[in-house]
Amino acid sequence: MLKFTDKGMYCQPGKFYIDPWRPVDKALITHGHSDHARWGSKAYLCQHDTKPILKLRLGADISVESVSYGEPISINGVKVSFHPAGHIIGSAQIRMEYKGEIWVVTGDYKLADDGISAPFELVKCHHFVTESTFGLPIYRFDPPEKTYAEINQWWAQNAANGINTVLLGYALGKSQAILNALDPGNGPIFLHGAVANVNDALTESGYHFPGSRITAETDRKSIQSALIMAPPSAFGTPWLRKLAPYKVAMCSGWMALRGARRRKGVDKGFALSDHCDWNQLNEAILATGAEHVYVTHGYESAFSRWVREVHQLSAYEVKTLFHEGEDEDL
Ligand SMILES: [Zn+2]
Ligand SMILES: [Zn+2]
Repeated sequence: MLKFTDKGMYCQPGKFYIDPWRPVDKALITHGHSDHARWGSKAYLCQHDTKPILKLRLGADISVESVSYGEPISINGVKVSFHPAGHIIGSAQIRMEYKGEIWVVTGDYKLADDGISAPFELVKCHHFVTESTFGLPIYRFDPPEKTYAEINQWWAQNAANGINTVLLGYALGKSQAILNALDPGNGPIFLHGAVANVNDALTESGYHFPGSRITAETDRKSIQSALIMAPPSAFGTPWLRKLAPYKVAMCSGWMALRGARRRKGVDKGFALSDHCDWNQLNEAILATGAEHVYVTHGYESAFSRWVREVHQLSAYEVKTLFHEGEDEDL
């Protein structure tokens, strides 16, 4: 049913693409990160909460329709539905059923509940296309609540010392999950424009997050003992330096690697991820009951070999043109 082409995944009977890299006639989009939602297609289809994000990132004039989680639709005889992927707000796995065969494309996903994204739903299938961003056994993440508590503690400690706390995380996804978990009793919250833009777009879907946008008019001296949420690209910029004195932490799954914090030159690293860790990937693959597993988005070769040899399933590598991490700016 699904072919892996140079434009991305193509559903032949349905005549649509999923997260295509190049402009196509009909693009089904798993979520709003820019390695999945690319510019130029004639028509887009996504889950409701992803719609304002696509408009923000691809232009208000795109042609986009949206559906609810679990709402079945038919596209050229293929039964299609979107199911929560637990990755970011609006993120979906796409289920396709045709002539008794069921495929699921996860997009990016995680099993851990971040408190804000609709929690991952297990969807049984014959063919499972999974990401493997953290598809090595060295990647194991604590439950998000534990990391959120550490973040709040660190902020309280910095605030008590009269120092601002800067958290670096993707403007879409990571930032909202963190903002939602912050303890407002610690002090004021400020936002980089890229984060504030995403938050504003999400108000259309009924989401509200704490924090004031830092603009050219903002009196920087009034920002004290505050928490500042910014994308990773803000690190090392004059924009950030004006907020001194501060300590800065990177919030990313990559922080689970020894030495990652030092290499990035930040004061602290929080291993907070929007993706499955090693255990979650293995758990999800086995739970779907799929006999055929397609691995994409990092460590494809090592992880597909593992799935073949250890889980005794058919597993294939699928190359992708883009990777997570290219989407940190709007
Ligand atoms: Zn993503
Ligand atoms: Zn991705």
